[in-house]
Amino acid sequence: MPARSSIYLDHHATTPVDPRVLETMLPYFTEHFGNPASRSHRYGWDAEAAVEGARETLARLLGAKSSKEVVFTSGATESNNLALKGAAEYAETKGRHIIVSAIEHKSVLDAAKRLRARGFEVSELGVDSTGRVSPDALAALLTPQTILVSLMLANNEVGTVQPIEAIGQLTHSRGILFHVDAVQGIGRVDFDVERCHVDLCSLSAHKLYGPKGVGALYVRRARPRVRLVSQLDGGGQEQGMRSGTLNVPGIMGFARAAELLLDEGADENRRVAGLRDRLQARLVAALPLVTVNGHPEHRLPGNLNLSFAGVEGEGLMLALSEFALSTGSACDSATLEPSYVLRAMGLDAGLAHSSLRFGLGRSTTEAQVDYAAERIIQEVQRKRAMSPLWEMLEEGIDPATISWSRAH
Ligand code: PMP
Repeated sequence: MPARSSIYLDHHATTPVDPRVLETMLPYFTEHFGNPASRSHRYGWDAEAAVEGARETLARLLGAKSSKEVVFTSGATESNNLALKGAAEYAETKGRHIIVSAIEHKSVLDAAKRLRARGFEVSELGVDSTGRVSPDALAALLTPQTILVSLMLANNEVGTVQPIEAIGQLTHSRGILFHVDAVQGIGRVDFDVERCHVDLCSLSAHKLYGPKGVGALYVRRARPRVRLVSQLDGGGQEQGMRSGTLNVPGIMGFARAAELLLDEGADENRRVAGLRDRLQARLVAALPLVTVNGHPEHRLPGNLNLSFAGVEGEGLMLALSEFALSTGSACDSATLEPSYVLRAMGLDAGLAHSSLRFGLGRSTTEAQVDYAAERIIQEVQRKRAMSPLWEMLEEGIDPATISWSRAH
C-alpha cells in the first residue's frame, strides 16, 4: 500500500520542478548571480543576456512577435492583477466597462471586484453546462463603454477550454482589449497570441514544471500597442511596467520549462490524455451515476472532474488519503461553499459537493491510474452502500423533491 498522499493527482494546483529545470537554475544562484539592471560590470551584463534569452523562449511559447512583449512577474496572480487594473486604469477615459467570465480564477474575479469598487462597471459572462462561454452572449454584453474582456484559456477545475480565437476576433474588430489567463492551457491546447488576437496574456511557471513565484504577462506592442498603468512603483524595470529586481534563477527555470514544453509537450499531452481517458472509462464503466464535469472534447488533457452522486466529495477524498487530490467542491474549506465554477455550470449544490478533481501530469503512470481506479471504485461503492441517499437515487427518486419532516 503506498504511503499517505504519495500519488500526486493534483497537477492543476502545482507541478514538481523538472530536474532539467532545476539544473538550469542552479548556476544562477551562485556563479551568475548578477542583477540584470547593473549596467556597469560583467555580472550585470551576463544576467541581462541570460534573461533576454529567456524572454525569447517565452515569446516563442506564446507565439508573440517580439520578446519585448514579455514582462516578467512574480506569478499569474500578479500578472492578472497588472493586466486588469493596469489596462483599466490606463483606458478609463475611453470607457469604464469590463467583462470577465463567471468561472475565472479568483485573481481575476477579485481584481475585477476591486475595479468595481473604484467605479468601473463589471459584467460577468455566464457559461453553459460544459463550462464554455458563448461568443454571441459576449457580443450581447459589449457596449461603447467596454474597454477590456478577460477570459481564461482553460479552467483550473473542470479543464474546459474556451473559444478564444472566436472571441479574439470579436474584441479585435471592436477595438476592445482582450486579456487571456493562459496559466492552465498554455502548451496544452492550440493557442497563439497572434492568431487569437490576444492583447494581454498571463502565465505562471509552476504549472509547467518550473519554479513557484515567477510568471509573465504578455503585453502586445503593435496593432494595438497596449499601455498599462504600473502597479508597483520603483526602479522602472520591465519597461516601467513592473518594477523590482528580476528573479533571474526563476526566470531561467521558467524558460527551460517552456523549452521542454515546446519540445515534448505534444507527446506528453497525448500520453496524459490517454491516461485520463483510461481512468474515466474505468470509473464510468464500474460505477453508475457518475457524471463528467467539463466539456467532452474541449478540455485539458490532464483534467478529470467527476461527480459521484450520493457521495460527499470531501469524505471521499479523505478516504482516498494515499492520493493527493482536490475536491473542487469546496473553494473555501472554511465555509464549505460549493465550487462557484460548478455552480456557474448549473450543477445543483448536492452534485457540486460530490465532485472530485483529478489532475494528471508528467509524473503520472499507468500503474498509478489503475490503482487509483480500483481504490476509487472501492471507496465509492463502500460509501454508497452506507448511504440512505444512494438508495433513493438508485430508485430514481430525486432527493430535491422530498419534503423532509423534522423528527420529534
Ligand atoms: N490563474 C489560474 C487559472 C490558475 O490556475 C492559477 C493558479 N492556481 C492562477 C491564475 C494563479 O497563479 P499563481 O499561482 O502563479 O499566482
